[in-house]
Amino acid sequence: MISVNNALEIILGSTRTIESFETSDIFNLTGRILYSNIISGIDVPQRDNSAMDGYAVIYSETSNASADNPVILSVTSEVQAGGEYSGSPLKKGEAVRIMTGANIPDGADAVIPFEDTEETDGKVKIFKSLAKNENIRFRGEDIQKGDIVLKKGVRIDSAQAGLIASMNISRADVYKKPEVAVISTGDEIIELGNSNPSGKTVNSNAYTLCSEVRKYGGEPVYLGIVKDNIIETTEKIEDAMKSDIIITSGGVSMGKYDFIPDVMRNLGVDIKIQKVLMKPGKPVVFGHIGRKLFFGLPGNPVSVMVSFMQFVRPALLKMAGAEKINKPVIGAKLTENIKKKPGRKHFVRGVYTISNNQFHVKTTGDQGSGILRSMSEANCLIMLPEESGNAAPGDIVDIQLIDHGEI
Ligand code: AMP
Ligand code: MG
Repeated sequence: MISVNNALEIILGSTRTIESFETSDIFNLTGRILYSNIISGIDVPQRDNSAMDGYAVIYSETSNASADNPVILSVTSEVQAGGEYSGSPLKKGEAVRIMTGANIPDGADAVIPFEDTEETDGKVKIFKSLAKNENIRFRGEDIQKGDIVLKKGVRIDSAQAGLIASMNISRADVYKKPEVAVISTGDEIIELGNSNPSGKTVNSNAYTLCSEVRKYGGEPVYLGIVKDNIIETTEKIEDAMKSDIIITSGGVSMGKYDFIPDVMRNLGVDIKIQKVLMKPGKPVVFGHIGRKLFFGLPGNPVSVMVSFMQFVRPALLKMAGAEKINKPVIGAKLTENIKKKPGRKHFVRGVYTISNNQFHVKTTGDQGSGILRSMSEANCLIMLPEESGNAAPGDIVDIQLIDHGEI
């Protein structure tokens, strides 16, 4: 048996990033990973413009302005956002009414906001002095033409989509999504919607797994349930071999019908991992044929999720081209007792809260590995190291933030 860290090292060591890409339009970029750098073809903003609604002025004329002793300027014209200033360059004693985002008239070098002025009959009183360039956004201040603004490997979220649009770019090259085959196993497992579920277990793992795959940049292909039968299982895994990653759930423990590792081996899979020092999830199987990865996850719904999160998720992200593949881990103050014997690393479903600048964490209660409900309540996994024993209130424990993005 090997440690969780060793297992992850082996898995990532066998994982290669996909080499193909496709072009995606801006509406479908969210969640995709950039295949090439995004280089700006323009300056942003494209012209010097006003950061405020107010008056464009010559800053040096306002140096003695105050509420009691305002400077008075003539308002010679107005420029709207998007409009062009067509007058002659601003001269001493003049001001131009200007809206946020409008181009700065030649000769002006500061903008005074409306709230520090009062205009009557074409004259404006300036109640405050200004610094040179105050309230002006300069051409290229955010982005300069030729800048590498987003790098290959960045995952696109809302801010990145907006940023790409701000450069007048409407499409980008992204990594093709790895295709991930999902197979459920077990004589007792029945499909959703079956009218006679008594004594059987409704297949939930396939839906957890397909959802996780989609969330972390893969394209799930659900292949159904196979009975605990070597021939059927072999055929199904063979069917799945056109995918980039093959995930099975169930059939990896010590039961009489747990033959997933043998089936994989017979199909030529180089099995690298068969057991990991963790709870839940001990009987995790991992192997590969070239770039194709095979994960035999345990059957219990929580073990499936925890082992997916620790092993499949980072491998999938790496294969999908993502630069950032780790969930943040931080220290939190435990508020209850957790029983544990040294030996395996425990992943305990937890709920963290933050008060007085400190993370606090409690468990979700009963930690049976069939209790998916507690997984749905958890916002973190409390990670107790292999060698540790019981944990007590006040202990600082590591928690993995499962709802947080990768860092
Ligand atoms: P196994 O590893 O095949 O012995 O399965 C362990 C436990 O997980 C058993 O109680 C199974 O009924 C349950 N299980 C296996 N596959 C699924 C599935 N697809 N959905 C829900 N529970 C499952
Ligand atoms: Mg089974």
